[in-house]
Amino acid sequence: MIQIVTQKDFDIKKHTTFGIGGKAREFTEVTTISQMQDAILYAQEKKIPFFILGRGSNCLFDDSGINALVILNKIYFCKREANQYYVGAGYSFSHLGSKSARDGYTGLEFASGIPGSCGGAVFMNAGANGSETANVITEVEYITMDGKHEIYRKDQLSFSYRKSCFHDRKGAIVACRFTLQKNKLAREKQLEIIAYRKKTQPLTEKSVGCIFRNPDLISAGALIEKCSLKGLKIGDAKVSDIHGNFIINKGKASAEEVRTLVKHIQKTVKEKEGIDLELEVRSIPSEI
Ligand SMILES: Cc1cc2nc3c(=O)[nH]c(=O)nc-3n(C[C@H](O)[C@H](O)[C@H](O)COP(=O)(O)OP(=O)(O)OC[C@H]3O[C@@H](n4cnc5c(N)ncnc54)[C@H](O)[C@@H]3O)c2cc1C
Repeated sequence: MIQIVTQKDFDIKKHTTFGIGGKAREFTEVTTISQMQDAILYAQEKKIPFFILGRGSNCLFDDSGINALVILNKIYFCKREANQYYVGAGYSFSHLGSKSARDGYTGLEFASGIPGSCGGAVFMNAGANGSETANVITEVEYITMDGKHEIYRKDQLSFSYRKSCFHDRKGAIVACRFTLQKNKLAREKQLEIIAYRKKTQPLTEKSVGCIFRNPDLISAGALIEKCSLKGLKIGDAKVSDIHGNFIINKGKASAEEVRTLVKHIQKTVKEKEGIDLELEVRSIPSEI
């Protein structure tokens, strides 16, 4: 029997940027690849589902919590090998964006300001400013459901808009390799990106970034603004006055309040503009 340290009935909201969610049945933190293997095998032996959590910056947990072992990925290392960055999947994606730009490498400037982990960025194919993770990732290390350590090359990862093959698998990304190019202007570009973010996003509020995926021809934020929904509030969940595609938690918002606001936005945009808005945030049910 595998032994790991877990906490029962763990309040999950403190590990999310939204600050929303009930209790996890069990919770553990891992800092190495072998601890991740043990945590997954522990869940398998106990026959309980598991959920891999990065920085919780794209998760909306249920008010009733999650009946699973939540494994918080804190595998945190970063090594530069020539023009490649080999990082633990728990390493901050935003730090990698600013660090690589300071080192004079281009390709990850867009990551600066995205408050997720590198594993979460690969899972979500995070992107901004016309670029995305898929453009610069070259290799991913993964622990499968049965604890096997596998390595995938970029051409095996089938990325699309805010999606990767990992959406259909049940394991954990544990390390990633990004390949960048030398460019003297990288730092300047990254600083411009972060300044623009500060001007256009409610970064001091609790949110999960963009709540909806952008439809084909117009941004979800522009559609929401066009429908005069900015500032709308249900309980403590509010459409940001600064960016229409951000829902912010003004204090003690519940998942239920966020979902009600989401449904109201979807209905209004459909009625007024004829467009279906789909969620970008991962809405996590209590039973997975
Ligand atoms: C202020 C703000 C700004 C944002 N701006 C952007 C932006 O510009 N562009 C953008 O794309 N996103 C943005 N986001 C959303 C979010 O930061 C990204 O989606 C990020 O990549 C999520 O990473 P995470 O580690 O927080 O993932 P989490 O929220 O922890 O998890 C998200 C999903 O990924 C899975 N996952 C996470 N880590 C692993 C792993 N190691 N192995 C397997 N599965 C894993 C989880 O199970 C979950 O299903 C923003 C969010 C905020 C709060």
